Amino acid sequence: MTSLLLLAPLRAEAVALGKRRVLRTGMGPRHARIAAARALAVEADAVVVAGACAAVSPELRPGDVVCATEIRRAGSEPVQVPASALLAAALRRRGLRVHVGAVESVETLTGPRERSGKDVLAVDMESAWLAAGAGGRPFAVVRVVSEAAGQRLVDPRTLVTGARAVATLRRVAPALDEWAAAIGERRVLLAGPRSFCAGVERAIDVVELALEQRGAPVYVRKQIVHNEHVVADLQSRGAVFVDELDEVPNGATVVFSAHGVSPTVKTTAAERGLDVIDATCPLVNKVHAEARRFAADGHTIFLVGHNGHEEVEGTHGEAPDSIRIVEDIDDAVTIDARDPEKVSFLTQTTLAVDETNEIVDELRRRFPALRGPASDDICYATTNRQLAVRAVAREADIVLVVGSQTSSNSKRLVEVAQREGSRAYLVDDETDVDVAWLRGASTVAVTAGASAPESLVTRLIASIAALGGAEVEERITTVETLQFKLPRELVVLR
Ligand code: SF4
Repeated sequence: MTSLLLLAPLRAEAVALGKRRVLRTGMGPRHARIAAARALAVEADAVVVAGACAAVSPELRPGDVVCATEIRRAGSEPVQVPASALLAAALRRRGLRVHVGAVESVETLTGPRERSGKDVLAVDMESAWLAAGAGGRPFAVVRVVSEAAGQRLVDPRTLVTGARAVATLRRVAPALDEWAAAIGERRVLLAGPRSFCAGVERAIDVVELALEQRGAPVYVRKQIVHNEHVVADLQSRGAVFVDELDEVPNGATVVFSAHGVSPTVKTTAAERGLDVIDATCPLVNKVHAEARRFAADGHTIFLVGHNGHEEVEGTHGEAPDSIRIVEDIDDAVTIDARDPEKVSFLTQTTLAVDETNEIVDELRRRFPALRGPASDDICYATTNRQLAVRAVAREADIVLVVGSQTSSNSKRLVEVAQREGSRAYLVDDETDVDVAWLRGASTVAVTAGASAPESLVTRLIASIAALGGAEVEERITTVETLQFKLPRELVVLR
């Protein structure tokens, strides 16, 4: 069993942590330095700093929890604490409001004026010095907000907010046990290829170049790619994401997302004189062209895909009177056609290969005249990532797929891994990983959907490694070299 040493500055904090091994460090840098030396002499497998903090960000409320992934101190290099991120999901599971990010350790008590303007979530007075007490052991810092950003040093509210922080710390303590139970060295099997495909890279380049060449704001219809981190990053640089064109002012630049749009959307944009840059993936455009061709031949087109998904909406719009959406095998068993001799099928580009084959086989059995696309609509990136995750899933205790809930291809990776018998989870980033999943898991497979940046994979692995070490082994099943040209509107100006 992992032995955990908790470092708590104040008596009330130490008491709140219950019957665990707690070293009371005392308040402030001087006491923290002495306590760090004492902590080094204590035999323990892992060390956690747990106590209160004062908020810098106005988003933090008293009683909120801060998992500090970076500790800053004036005049020193920041200390990275990636294992703190793995506390977040277990804390959220307990109904707590959790923030993950940087904390600064300051030398003296600070009021709201001194705190304001710092680029951190909160300040404390010990963590930077206590970090030395970890001595290379797995280490985390968790702080509970006892003062809001605008709260003065002498403030009648402090009694109440301080008591709330202590009460929260009591709820934090069991999550620290779960974190400690996940400590251990692991093998990480990294599936390759993973992360961005050529279509996603191109779509992100399109928005970046549009911002560079046209200036902010650049409007983007729908999420440019289905990833929360990518969208937030572009938003911070001046992209404005909208659901429909009526939210775009006249004359503005609008980018169509990688998933494609129906002809009606293109017509509306042209009628309004919008400056359109189309970032639709060329492989999605290929499906649109097939839809037009089959519809012109008078076919009923079975479009295998998820009703409501933007890509399916866009393709459906090419021939709404001819296209019937087939979501699953049940639909394939019951669906009918105007003329069974004139039928064809198309598929969404991001489906599970095996499941789609079953559906198409059923359609073929029912409609022997069924025609299909010249080459598979499920794109190379989807296929390659599914093959890669299957290759590592069989050997892993758990599979972590980095991707957003909105990402169809990421969800399919989870399903493919589950079909191999693995416990597989979709995580937006490392803060979504529940430490309970890692307990007893000696081999963890990691991959990422086509819309998830590789930097998130790097961060996830760093967090896992910080729990006691990770031997990372990459298994590449295919090397991808495909690149797509940028849309003409941007190349001309380059
Ligand atoms: S997943 Fe496939 S279809 Fe979708 S953007 Fe990437 S390459 Fe294009």
